[in-house]
Amino acid sequence: MGDEEILKLSQVIESGTLTSTKGECVKSLEKKFAQLMGATHCTASSHGTAALHTAIAAVDPEPGDEIITTSITDMGALTPILYQSAIPFFADVDPYTYNVTAETIEKVISPRTKAIMVTHLFGNPCQMNEIMELARAKNIAVIEDCAQCFGAEYQGQKLGTIGDIGCFSLQQGKHITAGEGGLCISNNADYARRMYLFVNKAWGYGDPNPDHYFLAPNYRMNELTGAVALAQLEKLDEFVARRVAIAAAWDEAFQDLPGVSPPRVHPGNKHTYWKYSLRVDSSKLNGGLDAFAKRLKEQGVFCAPRYIVKPAFECQVIRDQRTFGESRFPFTLARPEAVDYSREKYAGTYEALATVLVLPLNERYTAAHVEGVANVVRRTVEELTNG
Ligand SMILES: *Cc1c(COP(=O)(O)O)cnc(C)c1O
Repeated sequence: MGDEEILKLSQVIESGTLTSTKGECVKSLEKKFAQLMGATHCTASSHGTAALHTAIAAVDPEPGDEIITTSITDMGALTPILYQSAIPFFADVDPYTYNVTAETIEKVISPRTKAIMVTHLFGNPCQMNEIMELARAKNIAVIEDCAQCFGAEYQGQKLGTIGDIGCFSLQQGKHITAGEGGLCISNNADYARRMYLFVNKAWGYGDPNPDHYFLAPNYRMNELTGAVALAQLEKLDEFVARRVAIAAAWDEAFQDLPGVSPPRVHPGNKHTYWKYSLRVDSSKLNGGLDAFAKRLKEQGVFCAPRYIVKPAFECQVIRDQRTFGESRFPFTLARPEAVDYSREKYAGTYEALATVLVLPLNERYTAAHVEGVANVVRRTVEELTNG
């Protein structure tokens, strides 16, 4: 944050217009983000979770339809599926990239599949060609959860523009932030129209005979948020470049270390490192992943072993189907296969969570921070491999 954010924010406050229905900031943010991404349309919303909800509502599943998603993601990507009365059907992930693949998705596709929602975890692109081929062949919509991958590219294409809808978050911890906030982009005019309506209680602003056309919340972004987001957008390229440079330094520092491997990025893809993931081979380090993480923390290097620790389907809301009253709705509509979370079906997920150690980073890490973390990691690996 700096003078740029303060300036735009004070302009909004001085204008006295804080709602985006009357103001210009959010409209301008939508226009600029669409332009930046090469998309025809952008709808801003209150949160990343709201953006994902908006995308699902645009696809408009029938109650009980299945939305294929991933077992390693933020809960904000999953609860909107349930709010739209659809069933999250978890695909397993590749244990090296932690992402869903065409192969794992294909195993869970059914005639009930309405959409596939992929998360580009940590900023590392999913293999989109294969996923899009599969989806197009079966006429299934693809939503990209880009909350962690601002600026990332798959084979030269910007993430968020490959599927039908791309969703971004401006929550405090993401690449750029306005505290909270969401952005949905699309090149599909029908989805764009539904997204615009969905965040506005489905009120047809500007129509000759406006009405509330369907069930929808107020998910509008306000002008204060829009002002900060506009200023942050100007800094995105710089922030992304810095993250990529930090990750490159760590890749080099860690490449020959026994027992730990840098993130695996498919050739031709651009990872933008919301987090830096180390894969840890516990059999090579005394005490394994937990001892490694503990030693790093003792030396002042914050890290998150096992990331979200358990697969999303082990959280109470999903495992115990805690939804609306005692109804368990919409899980009452689910086919048994869709809610069968047997361990064997999710071998990649359990392997991923058992081996991943997440190192945080941000654009303000200095060369000394970057080198300091690298030195502690190297020293700790040596300590735990020398008995
Ligand atoms: C942060 C995040 C979300 C949710 O965004 P909020 O702005 O926190 O609601 C959804 N999906 C992923 C992958 C995220 O990292």
